[in-house]
Amino acid sequence: MKKRIFGNWKMNGSLAANAALVDALAQGVHVGACEIAVCAPAPYLAQLQSLLDGSSIAIGAQDVSAHADGAFTGEISAAMLRDFGVRYVLVGHSERRQYHAESDELVARKAQAALVCGITPVVCVGETLAQREAGETEAVVRRQLAAVVQVNGHCLSEIVLAYEPVWAIGTGRTATPEQAQAVHAVLRAQLLAATTSAGRIPILYGGSMNAANAAELLAQPDIDGGLVGGASLKAADFLRIVACAQ
Ligand code: PEP
Repeated sequence: MKKRIFGNWKMNGSLAANAALVDALAQGVHVGACEIAVCAPAPYLAQLQSLLDGSSIAIGAQDVSAHADGAFTGEISAAMLRDFGVRYVLVGHSERRQYHAESDELVARKAQAALVCGITPVVCVGETLAQREAGETEAVVRRQLAAVVQVNGHCLSEIVLAYEPVWAIGTGRTATPEQAQAVHAVLRAQLLAATTSAGRIPILYGGSMNAANAAELLAQPDIDGGLVGGASLKAADFLRIVACAQ
């Protein structure tokens, strides 16, 4: 399977900064080496649609409404994202689960809303430090994924999954390749039990991935790519991670 390296810009950027970053990425990316996407704040999707026209770098969004349309002030539907050329959307990022109280069920319905519009949801799962220390990692990620399987069973093979231990996000503390692989293997087994097409579902690792640790993480048998936060904001850092995936 072709590796995927997706950047999550979180709530960062400006018209000028995005233009410079995308320009540097476009110059450094070689077509077909691995699949690359950048997940930008919603106001900049139109800018990316124009900047990335004809580029092999895909456009991603960071969230989507579970609803198709209507009286949901402030929300953005999957159809709206599609209008701006969005190919991927993060759902269930830990910052959404934590700061916006998103439940497993809501995350599953967001994934469904994206799939209905032909956008690939990048479903994020992961345990907190307290849950890891209590030995609950496997149960937590299995529960988070089970909700998505239950709602999206028929088109499960169209999703991308991302394992992002909460304690590793933005902390500089990365899961060891062995720790990450162990959880990826659990997730792979759960997918295999749910669909015969599980082999097609990429499972990305996210959590302080950088140029120094990417190669070892990406060499694990069940790690199919990376979801990169902080290091995706600097073209040189992001391109070094991309190089590890080729
Ligand atoms: C993320 O936000 O998805 C992430 C993995 O962040 P970071 O790489 O900064 O830990």
